[in-house]
Order: sequence, then structure tokens, then C-alpha cells
Amino acid sequence: MEFSILADSFNKMESTRKRLELTQFLVELFEKTPHEIISKIVYLLQGKLRPDFEGIELGVAERLAIGAIAKSAGTDEAIKKIEEEYKKNGDLGHAASIILEQKEQTTFMVQDITVERVYDTLYTIAKLEGMKTQNRKMVHIAGLLNDATPVEAKFILKLLLGTLRLGIAENTVMDALAIAFSGNKDNRKVLEHAYSVSSDLGKVAETIATKGLEGIEKFEIMLFNPIRPMLADRVKSEEEAIEKMGDEFAAEYKLDGERVQVHIEGGKVVLFSRSLENISSYYPDIIEKIPKAIQADNVILEAEAVAINENTGEFLPFQELMHRRRKYKIEKAVTRYPITVNLFDILYCNGKSCLELDYKDRREKLEKVVKEDEFVKYIPMSIVKNKNEIEDFFENSINAGSEGLMLKMLDKPYQAGSRGSYWLKLKREYRNELGDSLDLVVIGGFFGKGRRTGSYGTLLLATYDEDEDTFTSICKVGTGFSDESLDQLYQILHPKVTIKKNPRIVSEMEADVWFDPELVIEVVASEITLSPIHKAAKDVIRKDAGLALRFPKFTGKIRVEKIAEDASTNEEIITLYKGQKKVAHGKNLI
Ligand code: AMP
Repeated sequence: MEFSILADSFNKMESTRKRLELTQFLVELFEKTPHEIISKIVYLLQGKLRPDFEGIELGVAERLAIGAIAKSAGTDEAIKKIEEEYKKNGDLGHAASIILEQKEQTTFMVQDITVERVYDTLYTIAKLEGMKTQNRKMVHIAGLLNDATPVEAKFILKLLLGTLRLGIAENTVMDALAIAFSGNKDNRKVLEHAYSVSSDLGKVAETIATKGLEGIEKFEIMLFNPIRPMLADRVKSEEEAIEKMGDEFAAEYKLDGERVQVHIEGGKVVLFSRSLENISSYYPDIIEKIPKAIQADNVILEAEAVAINENTGEFLPFQELMHRRRKYKIEKAVTRYPITVNLFDILYCNGKSCLELDYKDRREKLEKVVKEDEFVKYIPMSIVKNKNEIEDFFENSINAGSEGLMLKMLDKPYQAGSRGSYWLKLKREYRNELGDSLDLVVIGGFFGKGRRTGSYGTLLLATYDEDEDTFTSICKVGTGFSDESLDQLYQILHPKVTIKKNPRIVSEMEADVWFDPELVIEVVASEITLSPIHKAAKDVIRKDAGLALRFPKFTGKIRVEKIAEDASTNEEIITLYKGQKKVAHGKNLI
């Protein structure tokens, strides 16, 4: 398929934010796409090459891209020109198209660019490893750009740099697939299920294109493809929980660790994080020890990996696990920061899905299939019937070093990929005056002074705006940092510095440096207030005002398990803002 068809679609999609229009463009594109490459088209639409869990990243730096454009433009002044264009509009893809438009047509024997060629080249670039790869990447990119029209070049660069932001939600892709291949948008629900159990939208697209709706209905869990996790709503009190859950339900400790989805067959073990990243390399101890506890041919389990004090057996806070997030010397970290694996669900067993089973049947199965030992445990659980019982179990859980309780309905299935009321979380913070914490995205930094020289003394933070797919500023935070965390944050953030503010950042406040919006940290604050400067939920409560945090403080938690889109949303902030007004005045209430 000619790449120009895809580039034209990209161009059209870029010009609208309207969901119905986007859907229509997608339907037209899918109808033109040969079935063999529909999965590739779906990945590219999302700015990817493969599903996220395979961890294939293009990782081309701006500098390298500028070099490749210059090489293709074939003039010495090109670099300067590109930088000028880039500064003007902040979009390197666009800059490339302008430069290449000005380029004299010296090459007559241009090869047609196909989607397959672009995809394969991008894939080769992503897979290049080892020394001196920069130059080879540049040659591949320049080769493509030489044969590309300006519009094609624009999108090739956007794909390479990860700046293709068409604002297409997964649901919109599924709507379009349902219309294109089953003639009815309502069939999206069937597609959603397939997506939730495979986390692979390309595979879902390929299945409906080649096997129709029937194929999608038969779609099954695949071992070593992560299942999208079930999430919990929050409640503020035991009373509220009882109101929502009825007379009898399960209460489990809510441990403060990292959620791990464990796939096991024979000796092969793969671990996925909550955001579906393959995290096997951080936990060689789980890989080694867990198969011994399993009495089944294959299983998918969910667990919370928690750091422990080996002497006392106490649970330690989440930050301790941060030491595991490293590429080298992991063995040392394994001995210094020991963990236990605390299982709370079973999603698949001996070739069959367990998602449809009720909670209590799943728990029973879990206890049958897994034998507890020193390292592998079941999460403590108790069936509770009234407020007193919840309170007692809550206290036990806090005393053991956990965050509170997860409350789960006994007769409900596992709802992959959705946040619903079958699971509720009751945390300690919700109950005291300081209130709930927020997970915010770091978008900018200010250089530190005095003792903080050489680090970012203050950070600019943002919430996630789901409608616009942007990150809106909400506060600056400069308290709560230890010397160690300042250092750690600097190491993480320094490589994320960008030359220009990322177009998804919405902030009037200027920072010393801008970061790609990726890192999520936890913050508490005393109050949410209206703000003329910050952009979170702008115009929602009052025209020309956004929402901001008053007295924000870093809690010390770097939420490595969350991606930026998992951060607190403007919707949540609005709810919290309205909630605090109802409750009281002048108190700490977030
Ligand atoms: P939160 O991150 O506050 O939305 O809480 C949800 C997270 O709590 C999950 O993603 C798990 O990592 C963690 N968690 C701890 N204990 C449990 C449990 N018993 N059941 C489910 N999730 C748990």
C-alpha cells in the first residue's frame, strides 16, 4: 500500500479533533487497507510499531533527525534553516516538509514509498543496537526522506520522533473497526473485550479484518500477552463502602508495592507492570522462585511485589522498590532490597480463562493452584460483614505497613481494563485532614539554588486532560524533597529535557527547562484553589481561571509504575474541588 494514502489520512486527521470525523477518516482508511498490513496501520496510527508491552521504542533524538533532514536536503546551510523553521513552529516534521519542498529535485529515479517500506525501516531503526548506531540510523532515515514527498517526510519524522499526536483514542479506533468490518458501531463492545485481554490493538484489527466478528467473539487470552488490569474506585469511609457493596464482601490488604502480572508456563515466566510494560528484568528473584510454588501447567496471576524488612517481615514503602529499576547490577539490588510476592488474583489457568469466575471462586482457585512459601504469599483477606469488622481489618492492615484496604464484591467477575464499583479502595489518606494524594506529571524544572545547586530545586507539575490529550499545569512544587530524592529526580529528568516545550504541555508559567511529559510523582496539598495562571480545568469552574494546588508537597513517591496518561485527570481535580467546598471551609481537604 502506498504510504501517500496513509500520509493523506494522517493529514486529514490532524486537522480535526472531532471524534465522529476522526472515526469516518479511519473507516475510509481501513476500507482501503489490505488485511495483511492492517495491524501495522493501527500501530502507526498510535505512533507505535508494536503493542506497548513489547517495548519497542524508536528513540530517535531531535539532533539525529535534524542531521538526516539536512543530509537529504543536500545543502550545508540546511541545518540552520531547519532550526529556524523548527523554532518558528515547534514541529520538526513540519520543518522537514518545508525544507524538502525547497529542495531542488535532483533525484529522478525516486522509488515509490510504501507503508511496508516505511514500517520496515522504522522497525530496523528501532532494533539497531550497539556502538555507532547513530550514523546507521541517519543513513536509513535520509534514505527514506530522499524518496519522500514533503507531506510523507513530515509524517515519517513525526513517527520517528514520537510526535505524531492525532488524538485518536483506542475507543475511536475500535469504533471505526466495528463499522468497517461489521457494519455496526455497537460491536465495539466485542472488540473491547478482545483488546482488554490481549492489550494488542493491531492483533484485534487483524482478527476482525480477516475473521470477522465471529473471530473476535472467539478471541482468547494469550499467555505472555498482558491482560489490561482491573482498577478500583475510591471510597472515603466504611459507611460508603457498605452502601456500595452490600452486606458481605471481601477485604484485602492494600499493599504499597508494585502491581505485577505474572505469566507462567513451564519454566518460562514473564512479568508485566500495571502499565503493561515488561518488567521481568527488575525481578530475577520472582522469575526464579515463583514456578516452584505453582501447581498448574500454565497460569496468569496478579500480585503486589512489596519490599520487606527481612528481619522483621514488615512491609516497606513503595520507594524501596525504586532501587530495582536499574539496568545494571540488579543482582546486588535483589539482595539489598528483598521482596515478597503477594498474590491477589488468578486470571488464567491450565489453558482456560478465569475472568468470568466470581471473586470467591477465583480466590479459591488461587489458593489451590499456588502453594505459599517464604517468598510467595496470598494477600491477607477477610470476609467482612459490618463496619466494626472493616475497621478492625483496616487497623491490622495499617499496622502491618500497608496503605489500607481493597474491598471486593464476592460474586463478581474480573473486569479487565475497567475501573468499576466491583472493587473499591479505602486508604488512610482519604480519612485524615490532609486528604488524598495526587499523581502529577513533571513538565518543567527550575534550577536549584544554595544546597540544591546542580539539581532541579522546584518542579512544575501537570494533570492529564483526557479530552484534549494534553498536560495542564497545576502547581510548582519545591518542598518534600530529600537530598537523595533531588539527586534521583535529576538523574531521571535530565535526559528528558527538550529543546522546545512539548506541544502537549499547556502552561503559561515559564520553566527553566521543559521535559517530555512522562514522569509521574505523588503530591499532597492543603487545598485546591482557583488560579489565573494554572491551566488545569481552565474555564470549568470559572471563566478564565484554572485550578491550582495550595501548599503542594512531594510525598517522596516517584510513581514509576504509572505512565503520564495514568496521572490524576482534570475530571478528578474538579470532583475534589467541588467535594471540598461541600465539606467545610478553611480545612485541609484534598
Ligand atoms: P491506586 O494505585 O491507589 O489506584 O491503587 C491500585 C493499586 O493498588 C493496584 O494497581 C495495585 O498495585 C495495588 N494493590 C495493593 N493491594 C491490592 C489488592 N489487594 N488488590 C488489588 N490491588 C492491590
